[in-house]
Amino acid sequence: MPPVIETDDHKALRAAVGALGRRYGREYFTRTVAEGAHPTALWKEAAGLGYLGVNLPEAYGGGGAGITELSLVLEELGTAGCPLLMLIVSPAICGTVIARFGTEEQKRDWLPGLADGSRVMAFGITEPDAGSNSHRLTTTARREGTDWILTGRKVFVSGVDLADATLIVGRTADARTGRLKPCLFLVPREAEGFTRRRIDMELSAPEKQFELTLDEVRLPADALVGDEDAGLLQLFAGLNPERIMTAAFAIGMGRYALDRAVAYARERSVWQQPIGAHQAIAHPLAVAHIELELAGLMTRKAAHLYDAGDDAGAGEAANMAKYAAAEACVKAVDQAVHTLGGNGLTSEFGLASLVNAARVARIAPVSREMILNYVSHRTLGLPKSY
Ligand SMILES: Cc1cc2nc3c(=O)[nH]c(=O)nc-3n(C[C@H](O)[C@H](O)[C@H](O)COP(=O)(O)OP(=O)(O)OC[C@H]3O[C@@H](n4cnc5c(N)ncnc54)[C@H](O)[C@@H]3O)c2cc1C
Repeated sequence: MPPVIETDDHKALRAAVGALGRRYGREYFTRTVAEGAHPTALWKEAAGLGYLGVNLPEAYGGGGAGITELSLVLEELGTAGCPLLMLIVSPAICGTVIARFGTEEQKRDWLPGLADGSRVMAFGITEPDAGSNSHRLTTTARREGTDWILTGRKVFVSGVDLADATLIVGRTADARTGRLKPCLFLVPREAEGFTRRRIDMELSAPEKQFELTLDEVRLPADALVGDEDAGLLQLFAGLNPERIMTAAFAIGMGRYALDRAVAYARERSVWQQPIGAHQAIAHPLAVAHIELELAGLMTRKAAHLYDAGDDAGAGEAANMAKYAAAEACVKAVDQAVHTLGGNGLTSEFGLASLVNAARVARIAPVSREMILNYVSHRTLGLPKSY
């Protein structure tokens, strides 16, 4: 009988990635953040083992598997306390978009580097005046001869400092007032007119967020990825993996926090029994575990649909998975901090900083409310209020 959820290969991948993650562990990650550095050693080792490019086509140096496998990698690294956020952006969004819609030259130029981790890409869609409403994107591309001239602003874009290029979502000038017709452009880090300002975030993570200004950035014709008129199809080829990967990120973080809390609740005794014997402590941890498992199941479904080529089905499932995973993560982290009492707030135990980090998955890449809007309108057929 075929396995219902995960194959033996998936279990083996989980075990191998988990072992790598535990070898680095939370201490490595905390130290990296404190030093203002990047988790380069882990990134390189994971790349060398083929984990970073597991979803990319074999013909371009990848592992030939899918978002299912890449999301397992991220979940297991997160469970070990050292999630690599750029996995969401570089191989999952940008790698997928280039693999599906790039020219042969773009594939040959970018995919081997994204797969072996030697090159990194960021992804910029959010704008200061558009936010959740991507129909209001105003970053505009106009043609000048065969070149493109790109002008606009982006905000909260992760990892631009370490990315060789950022995949920027713009729109063509004549589409400015019409329906959203997004176009994707590869903008090299050092392109003239492309500047970044780091945003101070109350987050303890090695990846930083940036506000970007594109001031008449001149790009060659081949900076455009995919068809100028393909619009949303291309964009969602990248956004669905992003949601699935964010779900995996949240589940990993939730599992990490829950594991810490369970270990603590087994040991810590202030009456006759360890505190884990009190149902007021045990039951919320059990609930957190159940909710993470359920979110994991939905994430597997979304990844499976995506890898099977069902973009529409994957879109709905990916939204639900991201929602469920973010909620499960926020609750698991909150309960973990509470389980440790005062130690939940100490630097030594390092859980309190996850309270902020957990909330990222509720806000990004699409907020909880926008997912509820999507499910209300698309799935349930309810009328729209905005
Ligand atoms: C750590 C971090 C990393 C990020 N990385 C990236 C990145 O790499 N690239 C990138 O492009 N972006 C990135 N983002 C941006 C992220 O995707 C946005 O923050 C997110 O899409 C929400 O947009 P906003 O912040 O403008 O919120 P807003 O759109 O201003 O929304 C504010 C609040 O209003 C609610 N709201 C808005 N509209 C509605 C409505 N119609 N109905 C009900 N509620 C509504 C929202 O749910 C939210 O709670 C990142 C953000 C964070 C925090």
